[in-house]
Amino acid sequence: MSARADCLFCRIVAGEIPATIVHSNDVTVAFRDINPQAPTHVLVVPREHHANAAALAEESPELLVEVMRAGAAVAEREGIADSGYRLLFNTGPDAGQTVFHAHLHVIGGEPLGGMAQ
Ligand code: 5GP
Ligand code: ZN
Repeated sequence: MSARADCLFCRIVAGEIPATIVHSNDVTVAFRDINPQAPTHVLVVPREHHANAAALAEESPELLVEVMRAGAAVAEREGIADSGYRLLFNTGPDAGQTVFHAHLHVIGGEPLGGMAQ
């Protein structure tokens, strides 16, 4: 999937929109959420455009694994691997997905409680 000019996260990956990058490799980029819901709130995205986690799983399952690995690496780097953290994909309207480029939320740094973000 090539970059979409109208996709916010494709534009962050391309460096066209600034973001605080905390981790990146050949296939993923991780940056701080602009509206953090916890002391650590990082988004991990595949560099390739996929609309959501389900599409990513169908279209490129090995890339989904890389996104999960990057999420774990971010948790280590942020110092929350031992205290615990949440990995979350919002998918579709009822989940509140607002950006239609698959992104893994890495949330932690305090007791989170409940299920929702
Ligand atoms: P969703 O609700 O689609 O799962 O999550 C989208 C996330 O992207 C939200 O948590 C929102 O705060 C974050 N976000 C939206 N626009 C920007 C932006 O321009 N930069 C960054 N770093 N995060 C953004
Ligand atoms: Zn995109």
